Amino acid sequence: MQTDIHTHTTFSDGSDLSTMVGAAEDAGLNGIGLTDHCIVTADAFGRRSKYDLVETYERRRELIETVRTDVDVSLYDATEMSYVERDVDAIREFLRTADFDYTVGSVHFAGEYDYTSDAPYVDVSAEARRAAVERYYDAVVSLVESELFDVLGHLDLPERLETLRGHSRPNDYDRVATALAASRTVPEVNAGRINRSLGRLHPNPSMFSRFEDHGVEFVLGSDSHRPDELTDRVPALQASIDDATIELVEINEVLA
Ligand SMILES: [Zn+2]
Ligand SMILES: [Zn+2]
Repeated sequence: MQTDIHTHTTFSDGSDLSTMVGAAEDAGLNGIGLTDHCIVTADAFGRRSKYDLVETYERRRELIETVRTDVDVSLYDATEMSYVERDVDAIREFLRTADFDYTVGSVHFAGEYDYTSDAPYVDVSAEARRAAVERYYDAVVSLVESELFDVLGHLDLPERLETLRGHSRPNDYDRVATALAASRTVPEVNAGRINRSLGRLHPNPSMFSRFEDHGVEFVLGSDSHRPDELTDRVPALQASIDDATIELVEINEVLA
């Protein structure tokens, strides 16, 4: 693992940018991707105000330029964009304008569903939970087919939620793998919950072989919001993919 492609700074819900970069250096990485959250239009969940990189990316870019001169690690000026199907045109336009080093596309919500909290699913039937999960994978396939993104973020996010865990089916992973095999977009192995709640990687390692069967290669991201998370997750991520049946690729090769 040379580059951690997925981290957050105070330009979204993470920590001071230079401390994140310092943690990457201390972890022995050659590169760190600064992928603050980005939402292009106001949504029903009101997150636009918190994740306003649309307005602040130029300020962050200046800071990245400054920090870059002091460190040996490569800094990627990147973003984690929330993919919302009806906003595809606005997303395309913004990404063209901002011209990030690379973009991670992530589904955090789709239609009426929010995949970042258990709350909406606590009192619903198994059928309703499955419907939410199925809608999630529809959005993921649509994200990949849009060809807007270099990287697909945490491809089985519903597994993170206690209420939706176990409702992802092998066929969902096959659909995503098929779409990825036909796309320029590469998925990430995401370690955002490797040490808590879920206790494993995204995607579920028991599904790795389905991606290998399609010749799909992965980049690696810790999804850290704090320097100590990066410090813990990078070696844990490295250890857990060491003998996994998964093909890896470095982000600089993806972008070459
Ligand atoms: Zn995310
Ligand atoms: Zn993230």
